[in-house]
Amino acid sequence: MSHMLGLKCRECGRLYPKDVVFVCEYCFGSVEVDYDYDAIRRVLTRETIAARAKSLWRYRELLPIDGDPVVGLHSGFTPLFRAERLADALGVEELYIKDDSVSHPTLSFKDRVVSVALSRARELGFDARETRARAAHQFSLARISCRMRCALLSVGASRTAASSSCSASHVLPCFT
Ligand SMILES: [Zn+2]
Repeated sequence: MSHMLGLKCRECGRLYPKDVVFVCEYCFGSVEVDYDYDAIRRVLTRETIAARAKSLWRYRELLPIDGDPVVGLHSGFTPLFRAERLADALGVEELYIKDDSVSHPTLSFKDRVVSVALSRARELGFDARETRARAAHQFSLARISCRMRCALLSVGASRTAASSSCSASHVLPCFT
């Protein structure tokens, strides 16, 4: 069950439906997801989260998808390591380092955002992706798109990211 009420302009507060909206048409402010936090509070507890599979989808009520995720099912839940000596050197009580080098499938923190973005894109009926992102983002897009029926048009500086990460015919590198 989705807990997205819609989209909301971060600048003027204007509300939009859960659709493809990139910026506020009144003030050009960026829009963000407007969640029903009261409803989320009633169903999501620390125990609920802890009982779920160890991926980013354990927080699904707080992610912008309506249904079940369709890609990146194992992304996220990368470990935190306590760095006591670095904390001492910096003069802070506790310091943790997030190790995204074990994220799936491309060993990049980009896997999380791409998994959510592509799952939502499928819900909105998109079949094609275009990106001007840098290499790590393109690599993640290409890998996760391999599990979808889509065409990935990879435009940008990274000539090898998309083409080397997926040999499926539905990936169409289109470099400039
Ligand atoms: Zn606005």
